Amino acid sequence: MTSASIPGIHHITAISGPAQRNLDFYTRVLGLRLVKKTVNFDDPGTYHFYFGDETGQPGTILTFFPWAHVAPGRLGVGETQETVFRVPEGAMGYWLHRLVETGVAHQAPIERFGDKVIPFKDPDGMRLALVGVPGIEGEPAWTGGTVPAEAAIRGFHSASLLLADTAPTGAILTDVLGFTEVAREGDLVRYRAGTTQIGGIVDLRGAGGFLPARMGGGSVHHIAFRAADDAAEMEMVRKLQENHGITTTEQKDRNYFRSVYFREPGHVLFEIATDVPGFAADEPVSSLGAALKLPSFLEPRRASIEEVLPVLV
Ligand code: ZN
Repeated sequence: MTSASIPGIHHITAISGPAQRNLDFYTRVLGLRLVKKTVNFDDPGTYHFYFGDETGQPGTILTFFPWAHVAPGRLGVGETQETVFRVPEGAMGYWLHRLVETGVAHQAPIERFGDKVIPFKDPDGMRLALVGVPGIEGEPAWTGGTVPAEAAIRGFHSASLLLADTAPTGAILTDVLGFTEVAREGDLVRYRAGTTQIGGIVDLRGAGGFLPARMGGGSVHHIAFRAADDAAEMEMVRKLQENHGITTTEQKDRNYFRSVYFREPGHVLFEIATDVPGFAADEPVSSLGAALKLPSFLEPRRASIEEVLPVLV
């Protein structure tokens, strides 16, 4: 890793059911900003929604491929178990009330590594949680949404992976992705990415004996980690190959970042994504998410793509 890289989670991508329901939940219930409305570059008849903060900075981005008739997934080993958002500690009461009021399936607050955590699920059964973090009220927040700034989500706190064995995945996090083991609690091992506050934590849960995951609605498809730029990304690719015998895909241009993918030893699909160029590459920050954006290679097919995409209100 070059010294310029900030380690941590770049984005998390999951599979959902109907597009409108997904859009409503993340923008209207959770108050995230839709920062990019595009299509799955590998399956352009499907939307790709990116939700995040005002500018869509790395560590705030949760993305979805919505498929109207997707079968539900089954949680198991070899996948991301829970995606956790940061909210100001003083806003936990607001959020508990909001989840009740909006009929969101949730649990009573629990304690994890000394933090108060509210686990809940989205309409597809995707496992989410809020953690109350002290002293972050002053961080920038998206104020154009349905949640007041003093309570708004401030990016990812962490993600947890469910694994048969945590050590081989831990080795990739520490040797390649810039994380350090910092704590253990029960069957959880916590890794932290330097001093990164937004998206800076990955928890590995060892759960040998569980069935393997079955990907479907509510499943996380992959988790992406940050590289500052192409040079930093290629350095990580080299380390994966030389130190771990893992070959990544070739680099793919995702318009807003450039990515390589690989299956880590615990079978979770990992991506490394560059911080550059970011979501303002093809529309101004003020109107992010408003128009359907297509990469240039799909632009000639815009009319036929728009015809098959579900209409959103
Ligand atoms: Zn991705």
